[in-house]
Amino acid sequence: MAIDTGFEHFVERGAPLAPRTWLALGGPSEYLASPTSVEELAELVQRCHAEEVPIRVLGAGSNLLVSDAGVKGVIIDLEAPCFQGVTAAGNRLSAAGGVPLATAISSSVRAGLAGLETLVGIPGTVGGALHANSGGKGGDVGPWVCEATVMTRTGEVRTRSREELVFAYRQSSLDELVILEAVFELSPDDPQQLTKRMQKQWIIKRSGQPMSHERCALVWKNPRGMSAGALIDQAGLKGASSGGAEVSKKHAGFVLAHDGATSKDVQDLIELVRSRVAERLGVELETELEIW
Ligand SMILES: Cc1cc2nc3c(=O)[nH]c(=O)nc-3n(C[C@H](O)[C@H](O)[C@H](O)COP(=O)(O)OP(=O)(O)OC[C@H]3O[C@@H](n4cnc5c(N)ncnc54)[C@H](O)[C@@H]3O)c2cc1C
Repeated sequence: MAIDTGFEHFVERGAPLAPRTWLALGGPSEYLASPTSVEELAELVQRCHAEEVPIRVLGAGSNLLVSDAGVKGVIIDLEAPCFQGVTAAGNRLSAAGGVPLATAISSSVRAGLAGLETLVGIPGTVGGALHANSGGKGGDVGPWVCEATVMTRTGEVRTRSREELVFAYRQSSLDELVILEAVFELSPDDPQQLTKRMQKQWIIKRSGQPMSHERCALVWKNPRGMSAGALIDQAGLKGASSGGAEVSKKHAGFVLAHDGATSKDVQDLIELVRSRVAERLGVELETELEIW
């Protein structure tokens, strides 16, 4: 039995992945699934587990580089309405895993709930943010999470309480297959003040990263107490390139993909930056960007 037998209504074969990532590079997915309910998702996950077919979850593709050869197995997309709900009640905001982080932030601000507004300008989904404990100078997403509902690799749904969750710099203990929902515990605040804070933060964030029309990725984790971008700049690598991939001249932590770039160009540039920074400054950089 093929992995998509009986699932043809929500599974596509050979779907291009490039348009679904910020770098817009790389080959197709063997299977791309957009389940329309948690039950459909569970059936597919169970089948993949039984047949030992690799399975991964795609968020907004803002932290992914897809290889030129594409990806074997099943990629799950959480774009269906059942993975897109956001509700606020009391000082809590619940957001499904496929919800854009920006939507969760604006919903919290409208509801007069403070905390998430410091994350404004970080692209991606709620699931992607929890997976990597995304954040910045104003703090990370993890401390606001009081509960997360996940689906395991065997298709079971489980709820993890705050006590079971551990967040560290760009890491979380949420290593189950799918983050289905997050509940954030926030602090009541004045929506107008929150909106002002969010707008200010947005301007600061936008000024330090590539323009919105540019195809880009934030490649590196900051080594403890240092800025990866500043180290790359110090190593003289701002504007360095490999084929159609270039280290951003605005913020050296980003790589840009120009017309004609391939995924291999980006991977070669990453290796060039890694080896030059190690050679010239003695610092081993670690990637934040995931390569599929
Ligand atoms: C312009 C730009 C600015 C950025 N600024 C920041 C920043 O300030 N701070 C920061 O931390 N990061 C930043 N990033 C990186 C990126 O936005 C974050 O890592 C983001 O949280 C990724 O979310 P995503 O939905 O796009 O995940 P994807 O890129 O689609 O996936 C990344 C990983 O998350 C997993 N994942 C996604 N959704 C789920 C889910 N529902 N369940 C389980 N796993 C899931 C995927 O399987 C994959 O392993 C930036 C990126 C860009 C392009």
